[in-house]
Amino acid sequence: MDFQLSQQHRFIRQMMKKFTDNEVKPIAAETDRTSTYPAETIDKLFDLGVMGMCVPESYGGAGADPLASAIAIEELSKQCASTGDIVATHNGLCCDPIMTYGTDEQKAKYLPMLTKGRKVGAFALTEPNAGSDASKGVTNAKLAGDHWVLNGSKIFITNGYVAEVFVVFAMTDRTKGTRGISAFIVEKDFPGFSVGKHEVKMGLHGSPTAEIVFQDCIVPKENLLGELGKGFKIAMATLDGGRIGIAAQALGIAEGALEEAIAYTKGRVQFGKPIAKFQNTQFTLADMELGCEAGRLLTYQAAIAKAEGRRYTKEAAMAKLFCSEHAMKTTTKALQMFGGYGYTNDYPMERMMRDAKITEIYEGTSEVQRIVISGNMGL
Ligand SMILES: Cc1cc2nc3c(=O)[nH]c(=O)nc-3n(C[C@H](O)[C@H](O)[C@H](O)COP(=O)(O)OP(=O)(O)OC[C@H]3O[C@@H](n4cnc5c(N)ncnc54)[C@H](O)[C@@H]3O)c2cc1C
Repeated sequence: MDFQLSQQHRFIRQMMKKFTDNEVKPIAAETDRTSTYPAETIDKLFDLGVMGMCVPESYGGAGADPLASAIAIEELSKQCASTGDIVATHNGLCCDPIMTYGTDEQKAKYLPMLTKGRKVGAFALTEPNAGSDASKGVTNAKLAGDHWVLNGSKIFITNGYVAEVFVVFAMTDRTKGTRGISAFIVEKDFPGFSVGKHEVKMGLHGSPTAEIVFQDCIVPKENLLGELGKGFKIAMATLDGGRIGIAAQALGIAEGALEEAIAYTKGRVQFGKPIAKFQNTQFTLADMELGCEAGRLLTYQAAIAKAEGRRYTKEAAMAKLFCSEHAMKTTTKALQMFGGYGYTNDYPMERMMRDAKITEIYEGTSEVQRIVISGNMGL
């Protein structure tokens, strides 16, 4: 593994840092306080080519690799994890499966929509009784002449009430278990599609999470994504890639919290000296720095494996597990360093800590990541 980022990746980091400092940091607290979807920021990210950045240029994307996308999500999440999440979902969970499994016609129709067309994408797998065990979904699709008819609902869908294109998983043959699940591309304007409950969450307030409902929803026959009955495989493979995005998001949160903690502890004087001079503070900051470095290596390693077409299921799970747990530890300890101030919303620590928690839950909980890692150890 080459430990130096290429000039192109260094350039992407600089570009994203500048964008985040100018466009994301100034509104991050307000976005959280008012639970507002950062529409203008997302529009600017479309302008910048970050939304759909791995889509080939021939389909309107930037033709970047998974490491570039991870770096973009990491930089955004240093200041606003909600913005990082919206981008991670759009790129990793909607554009990616259409790029990988779409027919030429599907790619020609949907990828330009998700890039130059500025339509936001989403991924709909989870159901009330099918979370960690995603195979237990009951949403079903029946073929009726030249179209499919979908019935059921999906919950906790990121970008749910702003997205216009959804990758949806539904049962096409209940007798076949996971081999009876198929994937579909669904547009929000298809008859029978509607958005249900908007979730009120602990954190990630700028990221729109909602239920989506299919009531005799008409989906053209040609919108089957990949082969009939291969939906579960598509979902699992897509989540492998998505986990690199969540690792990058969690890494960004931890790095952002560490930066805030360093600045604060150098300025805050107690017992006649800055609290950064106490060895306890220094050792805690050292552990945070160490975890960020390790998380970066795990995340970039998984992204490079994906870019090179190698297997990366275990690598992505390790990166996601490590970075999300490190984000939770780092934000908790950083908040402690701010004392009472950290507990107020005058400082970003309490928001960062609330935002960090979700990274241990979605796209597979930490327990599920341990199942994936141990399942790939030949035990
Ligand atoms: C903000 C947010 C955004 C989301 N975005 C999306 C999205 O865009 N698309 C989508 O499809 N889904 C999305 N999800 C759903 C998310 O992926 C699920 O919530 C997650 O996979 C966990 O499923 P669950 O909530 O049903 O928990 P459960 O599966 O009920 O798990 C509950 C607890 O049991 C543990 N557990 C379960 N099985 C095992 C086991 N075998 N061994 C040990 N422990 C176990 C879990 O780790 C967890 O701690 C989102 C969720 C949230 C909260």
